[in-house]
Amino acid sequence: MPEAWYPQEIRDNGFNADYTNGHSRMEAVKKHFTVGFFHSDYNIGVRGYFQWLIARDGQVYQFAEADAVCFDSGEWNDAGPGIEISYMPGVDDAIFTDAALESARALCRWLSVEWSVPLVDWTGGRIDEWTGFRGFIDHRELVQTEQHVDFWPDDAWQFIIASDVPEQEDDMQTLFTPNNLQNYYYDPEVGMVYVESMPAGTFVIAQISQADFDRMNKVSTVDVAALNVNVAIAIQSSKGTQGTRDANVHAAVSAISRFFA
Ligand SMILES: [Zn+2]
Repeated sequence: MPEAWYPQEIRDNGFNADYTNGHSRMEAVKKHFTVGFFHSDYNIGVRGYFQWLIARDGQVYQFAEADAVCFDSGEWNDAGPGIEISYMPGVDDAIFTDAALESARALCRWLSVEWSVPLVDWTGGRIDEWTGFRGFIDHRELVQTEQHVDFWPDDAWQFIIASDVPEQEDDMQTLFTPNNLQNYYYDPEVGMVYVESMPAGTFVIAQISQADFDRMNKVSTVDVAALNVNVAIAIQSSKGTQGTRDANVHAAVSAISRFFA
C-alpha cells in the first residue's frame, strides 16, 4: 500500500483522519489556495476540509490520510485529496512564495510516485467529477453546486513538472514534436522519461540512463539500437471507452517506440 502520510509533513490528525468519511478514488488531486491567513487556514484543515496546507514559509501540514475523503470540493470530495496554498488575495503579493512552490513541487511529485497520480494538469474548463480525469486539477475547473475560483498559476505548474535539466528537455521536445505527445520530462533521480498524451491522459514511462539521455542530446541522429531503453509502463487513462483508451495507449507506445527503436 502507498504511504498515506507525506514524509515531510507536520501531522495533525483532523476531523477526517482515520477515514471518518471513507476512502477517495485517488483519481484527481485538487489544487487550491485558501483565501485566508495561516492560523485560520490551519484550523480549517483540522476541521477536515483538506489533506495538506502549505504555509508561506514552505512548511507542509497534513490533516488526514492522502486517500481519506475530506471536504475540500463538494461533489469532488471523493475523487481525491486537496492541497491548499495559504494565500490571502490583496494582502499577499503572490499565490506562491518560492518556499511554498518548492514544497508544492515535492508534494506533487511524491503523489505521482507514491500514488501513481499522473503529473498532468487539466486545462479544459470545468468538468464533472465522473469524467474520469486522472491527474491534478484546479478548484476553479470543478463543476460543483457551489463553484469556486481558486487555482494555481500555470508558471507554478510548469515549475512543478519541469525536469531538473531543462535545456535537455528543450532538445527532447523537438524530437517528440512530430508525434501527438504533448508533454514529457526526464527525471534523472529515477532515470525515467515520462510522456503524457493529452487530452486522453495516457501516461507512458520509458527507462533510460543518464548517460544515454545525455548522448541523445548531443547528436541529431542517435544509434538508438545501442541505447539501453525499456519502454516499460503504460498507465491507461480512465477517460473514454475501453477501445479509445486502448487506442490511445497504443498510439503513445508506438510513438515513443518509433523514437527509441
Ligand atoms: Zn479551493
